[in-house]
Amino acid sequence: MVSCREFLQLMLDGWLAATLPRHRQRACDEHVATCHACTDYVDSYRVTVGMLRRHRAAERTPAVPEDLVRAIVAQHSGS
Ligand SMILES: [Zn+2]
Repeated sequence: MVSCREFLQLMLDGWLAATLPRHRQRACDEHVATCHACTDYVDSYRVTVGMLRRHRAAERTPAVPEDLVRAIVAQHSGS
């Protein structure tokens, strides 16, 4: 099972495009199926990227913001 931090990186590395090795792809699928924080993030990421793409055709994949990673990890390990 991947952690939230690993998932967020893998998501940008190819999960969204389904280009990861199959076992990594499936590990990410499993993470997102069980992690509401990352599900929410994926949804908002897709919306954001969709908006950016409309403005800038050659938008590069941004790095995962550190603040966001910390927020998700904190939310996850909190209760
Ligand atoms: Zn997560």
